[in-house]
Amino acid sequence: MVLKAHVSFLLFTPTNHRRDNSVSRSMYALLRRGSACRKLALSLSSSRSSVPTAATLWHQPACFSTASPAARSASAAASIRRVGIVGAGPSGFYVAKYLLKELGPSATVEMIDCLPTPFGLVRTGVAPDHPEVKSVQNDFGKVAEDPRFRFFGNVRVGQDVGMAELRGFYDVVVLAYGASEDRTLGIPGEDTLEGVIGARTFVNWYNGHPEYAQDEKLTTMLRDILAQPGAQAAVLGQGNVALDCARVLAKQPADLASSDICEHALEVLRQSHLTTMSVIGRRGHGQAAFTIKELRELSRIAGATLVVPPEEVAQGLTPFTIAELAQSRPRKRLADLVESLPAPSAAAAAAPAAAGRTVALRFLLIPKALLPDPARPHRVGAIVLERARLQQEGGEGGRVVAVGTGEMIEMPCNLVLRSIGYKSQPLEGVPFDNRRAVVPNRQGRVFVDAPAAPGALAAAAAAVEVVPGMYCTGWVKRGPTGIINTNIYDARETVASIVEDAGHGKLPTPSSSSSSLLDVLAKVGRKKVEEVVTWEGYRKIDAYECEVGATRGKPREKVIDAQELVRIATK
Ligand code: NAP
Repeated sequence: MVLKAHVSFLLFTPTNHRRDNSVSRSMYALLRRGSACRKLALSLSSSRSSVPTAATLWHQPACFSTASPAARSASAAASIRRVGIVGAGPSGFYVAKYLLKELGPSATVEMIDCLPTPFGLVRTGVAPDHPEVKSVQNDFGKVAEDPRFRFFGNVRVGQDVGMAELRGFYDVVVLAYGASEDRTLGIPGEDTLEGVIGARTFVNWYNGHPEYAQDEKLTTMLRDILAQPGAQAAVLGQGNVALDCARVLAKQPADLASSDICEHALEVLRQSHLTTMSVIGRRGHGQAAFTIKELRELSRIAGATLVVPPEEVAQGLTPFTIAELAQSRPRKRLADLVESLPAPSAAAAAAPAAAGRTVALRFLLIPKALLPDPARPHRVGAIVLERARLQQEGGEGGRVVAVGTGEMIEMPCNLVLRSIGYKSQPLEGVPFDNRRAVVPNRQGRVFVDAPAAPGALAAAAAAVEVVPGMYCTGWVKRGPTGIINTNIYDARETVASIVEDAGHGKLPTPSSSSSSLLDVLAKVGRKKVEEVVTWEGYRKIDAYECEVGATRGKPREKVIDAQELVRIATK
């Protein structure tokens, strides 16, 4: 079964084949066993052996040595001919950047993405009013100008081409496909009521991800809900994604009009009668996941007032939270800013009948259920929240968690954005840790758990089997945390592993006789090669979007129709 792509904070959606919690182990079994798994086995073996054996999977203890400068031999890296990177977002681009510094003049680094456009989250995730963050595209553009770089957009790995074919063609495959699914709350009403959407959906929608921006039903629903007089929204979760969503909803459309927000979204926001928005956290302000810059921005929106109930702030100031805040200056500054915000009553008194919007930071509230609107029972009308108190898990020094008190409150709301984080999806032919929702790896080397031999010592039980030539980076490697720059360290580590493995002769020799990925795609026969978008094709899209944007006083107007993007790129 091939799932629909949900790219935003991510780049492409792989084929979903496994649901159990022991995928690494079952992958190991597949790798080791026989003919039923031959296709997969071939994908994970070198050309020298059609079925993987202990020799084609090199066995390593869980604790790897770090790459020594001596091991990073230029000649070894120069022996790498072709690298395929799955996903053209920031994590993939940083790997390309550092790999190109190591590889020889005849090597190629090829990036594959399911979207016709590169840059992943930088294009479809970063908020439109954060152009300074998007400027990293210029750096990635320089990487792409290297004659050894190739881009293959509009190619979905797991559908148009499998991991087996990629591994047969590339010396090295780097998985950089990010996290394309939402974490879910698992509460009643979450999946059934209209008006309850993932923050990722909202972000993709206003940022022009074709799959969301072209969704007429979504646009109509958002328009209907936001245009209701006195509409109220709730954002569940208090990370930076939650604050991005709250800011876009709270801002005056005129203040977004010169950004690269898509026109269809601006049009809906122009009709918005949203009055109140609550950004709801289950823990206290001392544990909030957002950062101070983003909070400051939210407190300075023209026409909107950011408030916080003082009693929720006071309840969050437990002795252990105060002690924790004393240990961290950035956290303390963030907490001080929250504590300095006006109470809802004070804000209302200062600006009675304000035409503006109110954004409320709410703390210590656990989402329990979503209730239908009695007037429109298919739509959400309220959220049930349980008041929480803070507790240290396992006693003193333990992680601070929210514990329900049994006291429930009901908060009216017409739109609910669930913003509690993302998760990666498994990709056929790639080991996957279902519990952590990442590709299991050590310093970017993909591995499968090796079952302990009978009677083996505990140390041996911790051994892993590295999958030769397969690496990962970014969110699929470390989980969905960190800013764009976090990918730099991640990429450097993965590149160091690749170089070190090349130095030790641990890379497999690809078996394919194809001369290019287009050749591979043609042989597979599931993708029309003339629909593949190259870097030159993307430059046409870029030029077109910037030209249209200029006529509207925007840096670009994104094309939201996937077919139109391909048409522009390939004409
Ligand atoms: P995040 O930072 O991990 O925040 C997730 C939020 O959801 C937390 O407040 C978390 O609360 C809450 N949550 C998780 N499970 C929950 C549950 N079952 N019930 C209620 N609340 C729950 O995730 P994110 O906002 O998606 O951001 C992902 C990464 O991208 C972050 O590293 C972020 O900084 C980064 N990012 C950065 C920017 C920027 O720099 N401007 C913009 C966007 C994203 P707990 O803490 O209690 O678990």
